[in-house]
Amino acid sequence: MASMKDQLRGLVYSTEHGRTCPQCEQPEDSCICDQLQDQARLETLDGIVRIRRETSGRKGKGVTTLSGIPLSEPELKALAKKLKKVCGTGGALKEGVIEIQGDHRDKLKLALEKEGFKVKLAGG
Ligand SMILES: [Zn+2]
Repeated sequence: MASMKDQLRGLVYSTEHGRTCPQCEQPEDSCICDQLQDQARLETLDGIVRIRRETSGRKGKGVTTLSGIPLSEPELKALAKKLKKVCGTGGALKEGVIEIQGDHRDKLKLALEKEGFKVKLAGG
């Protein structure tokens, strides 16, 4: 299997085929913008996960949001899935922030600490 570096080098030579992404200048098929965005997000984090309850504009108990989780997008997806199971509810992942339906702050704090994260309850 070719290493990531080899794969990237291969891409440079194949840019004359097909269309190129105007932002990252990679062929559209292998656009790395999402990756770069993910990387930029990770660089702004301080390693502390913030748990917040948000009710504005939402019915009932609102949602519990988890922001600042120092994980890449695929890992965040896996974590969101796990946390939804822990709480027995639905949720979503939006721009690096996990949203869990309902107020599950204590449960989520416990679950994240179990995973080894530093957690802080913030706001509401
Ligand atoms: Zn791109």
